[in-house]
Amino acid sequence: MKFEKITVCLDMYGCPNRCKHCWLGVTPNGNLSIDDLKFVAEQFRPFTDNLEVSDRYREEDYSDNYKELWRITSELSDTKTPHFELISYWRAVRDKEYVPWLASLGVKAAQLTIFGDEKTTDYFVGRKGAFQEILQTIDILFQYGIAPRIQTFIYKINIAQLPYIQYLIETLNLEKRCADIGREFDFFFHQGSCDGENEQFYDVWITPDDIEKIPHKLIDLTLKHFGKSHIRDVLGDTEKELYNQLAVDNSTENIVTNKPVFFIDKDFNVYPNYETPSPFWCLGNLKTQGAEVILRNYVNNRSIAQNIKLTVPISKMVIEHGDPESMRLFSKWDYKNYILHKYCRAWYAKNQL
Ligand code: SF4
Repeated sequence: MKFEKITVCLDMYGCPNRCKHCWLGVTPNGNLSIDDLKFVAEQFRPFTDNLEVSDRYREEDYSDNYKELWRITSELSDTKTPHFELISYWRAVRDKEYVPWLASLGVKAAQLTIFGDEKTTDYFVGRKGAFQEILQTIDILFQYGIAPRIQTFIYKINIAQLPYIQYLIETLNLEKRCADIGREFDFFFHQGSCDGENEQFYDVWITPDDIEKIPHKLIDLTLKHFGKSHIRDVLGDTEKELYNQLAVDNSTENIVTNKPVFFIDKDFNVYPNYETPSPFWCLGNLKTQGAEVILRNYVNNRSIAQNIKLTVPISKMVIEHGDPESMRLFSKWDYKNYILHKYCRAWYAKNQL
C-alpha cells in the first residue's frame, strides 16, 4: 500500500484558546514529546516517498520549543509546506523572538479572528485578554512587515458588532498601514463551518434578513477576499433551498485520496482531515493498531462517517435530518456535512445501545 503523499498532523500541545466556534472541538491539551513525533513519522514512513510531518493541528507554535519543532518536522518531512498565515497571538505578545522568527520564514500575512468588541471577542475565544492580545499583535506584526488579515464569524448574536469592527479597522488605520508595507488589507466574514463546537450556534445561525445589518464596506472587503460578486455566493443558500435540492440527490461520496492528511490527537487516535476529529471519523489508534491497519481502514472507508458517506445517499440523510422550512444559510458543502454528522450521531446512538 503506497500513497503519493501522506501528511500527518500530531496535536502535541493543543491550544491556549477555547473558541466557541472551534471546528476541531475543544479538548484537553496534551504534552507529547519529540519521541512521540518521531514515532508518528516512523509509522507512516513505509507507506509513501513523500511524507510531511506537522507538530500540531490546533494552535501554531504554541509550545516554547516551536523553533526546534519547525526544524525537526522539516527533517522528518520530504516536503515542508511554508509556514501558514496562521499564528499564535498568545505567543506573539509573550515571546519577543516569535514574530521576527515568522518574518524570517517569509510569512507576509497573518490571520487574526475578531468577533466584535473586547467583551464579545473574549467571550467567543473563551479567554479573557484575547482581544487586547490581538490588538497588541497587530502592532507587532506591522513592525516586522507582516500584514494582519482579519476574520470574523457572524451569528445573529454578534452581527450587531459588525459596525464596531468596521470602526476598529478604520481607527487602527489597517488599510493604510498595510499599504505602507506593500500589502493590501484583507478582511472577511462568514458563518464558519458546520463542525465541532460551531454546532452549538445553529439556533442563532444567520438567515437572509440578517444580511441588511452588515455594513457595505465589510461586504465589499469580503467579496474581494473570496473573489465573489454577490454576498449570497459567500453565505450560501437557505436550508430550505438546500433541502429541496438534496432531497432528490441520490449520490454518495468516497473521500479517499492518494494524498491523505491525517489528524492524530494526543492519545494517538487518527482521523482523516476531512472533518472534525470526532468518534465517527476515527480510523483507529496508532499506538495499539499501527499505521498499516489505520491506512487500510482509511482506504476501505471503515470509519463510521466514511462508510455512511459511501453507502447512504445524501437524499436519505437530508429527508431524515434536514428541516425543509429553515431559512438558515449554509454553503452546500457545509450543509451536507452538517446532515452527515446528524446521521452519524443517530447511527452512533442507536448502535451503542
Ligand atoms: S479555533 Fe483555533 S485558536 Fe480557537 S480553540 Fe480552535 S484551534 Fe484554538
